Amino acid sequence: MVDSRNVVLLVGGVGGAKLAAGLARMVPPDQLTIIVNTGDDFWHYGLRICPDLDTITYTLSGLVDPVNGWGIAGDTTITLDALGRLGEMPWFRLGDQDLATHLVRTTRLDAGESLTQITQAITSALGIRCRILPMTDEPVATRVDTVEHGELDFQDYFVRHRWQPTVRNLRLDGIQDATISAPVRQAIENADLIVIGPSNPWLSIQPILSVPGLRELIASRSVPRVAVTPIIGGQAVKGPTVKIMQELGYTVSLETVAGFYQRTINGFVVDVQDQDVHLSDLRLSVFDTLMNSDQKRVALAEHVLSWTS
Ligand code: GDP
Repeated sequence: MVDSRNVVLLVGGVGGAKLAAGLARMVPPDQLTIIVNTGDDFWHYGLRICPDLDTITYTLSGLVDPVNGWGIAGDTTITLDALGRLGEMPWFRLGDQDLATHLVRTTRLDAGESLTQITQAITSALGIRCRILPMTDEPVATRVDTVEHGELDFQDYFVRHRWQPTVRNLRLDGIQDATISAPVRQAIENADLIVIGPSNPWLSIQPILSVPGLRELIASRSVPRVAVTPIIGGQAVKGPTVKIMQELGYTVSLETVAGFYQRTINGFVVDVQDQDVHLSDLRLSVFDTLMNSDQKRVALAEHVLSWTS
């Protein structure tokens, strides 16, 4: 089946990338737009690093390391090792090939190009034909207020501290100045289907929906707007979704996630393990959402498309 609707997918990194890969097999490239969280972006050794954009880009170009789900398969860390020799303690893993992406991005940002233009250039150079868009061109930085260390930069919390500190609050630095780019606006206005991928609702989806006006723009569209569950049987497949939910004082449940996406979505794909759940005001669909193989990514994408057609 090849779908002919305009499909927009909202994602963070690894979890969302799997559904993106499935959808990319089912939807013609000029009808698929992936809007990506940039709240994780940061500066490191003078380079602008956009982890979620790169994960989506490497996944859709086939370059991705299949074990980690991020980075480039077979990449080396010669530069990182050399930094260690110079007395540095590089805590963020940067592969040598991966560095090329950050060098190109940073150079072009310095030359005045927007992140949207640069992402377009990088993705088309890597042979990707669908559109991958940053959620906004303005810099937004997720800051994590923790019990143990006070407020941390996102990567400090996530990578250096391996998301172990207890989260007290989340803040999006710069969000008030973020604007909806013309391509993001156009994609949402022309969408026949909007999908929120199985990404961390607090860390990956919240920044996207917090770009001023974006949540309202999505909610204003009278088309199917569905989320794919980021938790299965009360557990996260990976990452701190459930841990953060608990630390922020929420009950770990699909009701909590649905409440979080309230008014943004009108449908929810839950896992077979949660088939007894009842969520008022939402159309529900039950499917095996664990994408632990290529076939299951395509199967879930196909299900989302057929259920909403
Ligand atoms: P993100 O995509 O950058 O937000 O980060 P992760 O890859 O760490 O995933 C975040 C969320 O996606 C977590 O809540 C995971 O449980 C969820 N997730 C990851 N893989 C899958 C999957 O195959 N199926 C489902 N349903 N959720 C997944």
